[in-house]
Amino acid sequence: MDFDAVYYEPDSLDYALGRELKQKYQDLPWVPIDSHNRIDEMTSKPNAEFGKMKKHLIVGVRKTHKYVENHKVSDFLVPYTSSGCSASCLYCYLVCNYNKCAYLRLFVNREQMLAKLIKTACGNARPLTFEIGSNSDLILENTVTQNLEWTIAQFKNTQNGFITFPTKFDMVEPLLGLEPGGRVIFRMSVNPEYIIKKTEFGTSPLDKRIAAVNKMCEAGYKTGLLIAPVIFVEGWEKLYGELIAYLADTLSNKVKNQLFIECIFMTYSFVHRAINAEAFPGAIDLYDKEKMTGGGRGKYYYRQPIRDNAEAFLRKELARHLGMADILYFC
Ligand code: SF4
Repeated sequence: MDFDAVYYEPDSLDYALGRELKQKYQDLPWVPIDSHNRIDEMTSKPNAEFGKMKKHLIVGVRKTHKYVENHKVSDFLVPYTSSGCSASCLYCYLVCNYNKCAYLRLFVNREQMLAKLIKTACGNARPLTFEIGSNSDLILENTVTQNLEWTIAQFKNTQNGFITFPTKFDMVEPLLGLEPGGRVIFRMSVNPEYIIKKTEFGTSPLDKRIAAVNKMCEAGYKTGLLIAPVIFVEGWEKLYGELIAYLADTLSNKVKNQLFIECIFMTYSFVHRAINAEAFPGAIDLYDKEKMTGGGRGKYYYRQPIRDNAEAFLRKELARHLGMADILYFC
């Protein structure tokens, strides 16, 4: 990744990873900040600067370590080693949460976070699953910190529990030789290539994502797909029908024989509209007044009859092409 400046909390240099990053990016300007949670210089910038702000790297110490219960593919959402991302998906849910603060933030106190994870996993009789990638994309982050390979190498030796994370990136090579021992669940997010190109700026193309899934499965990771977010652009039925047929053609038999799938319809928001209109003026407009309805707090959801119709369509296509896959949920 091509950063242009590092904004850092001075006490992050008390940690080994903080010092490593200082060394690695010594040629960039390092700007001290009071808190990674609020950087006035950035929150005061116009929306048009959003893309440029994604070039900044933020380095700090994570202070909140509260796990949040979850009931989809994991038992808990775990705040982990990063937050935000340097890619620019037009619908990114982190934009809602952090408004302009969706740039990549790295937290250097990784030993503390992994120790809590292992302690919680080992302290529970039932094997728990921990979602460690809900605040960022850990495959992308790993190219900067190697945190994911560091985590897997240690977590795989725990006697209990699983970790899982989703991604839109294909840089999995450093993970392939780690022998995860059945303790790591890798989930790749997919969309039709047309939608990736139009909305998921800076992420990996579909063919590379599929190649990464095949490699990860071969390397001993349990693998799943997120068809997410489903976006009802013009001609969506054709696009998603072709996507599912393409998955059936290109996923290895090994992947298909253990595959699970999550399907998530896009949510959008007033904040996305405001930022995207100014930061990406030539981009496709994802707001669709006819198909969407307000869900409170400036959020927009696709209307229920449209979701129902799409779910029926996607279930039919999945049954036709990937009948062996376990469809976990639509939401
Ligand atoms: S890759 Fe994920 S975290 Fe990064 S911008 Fe896209 S949706 Fe957001």
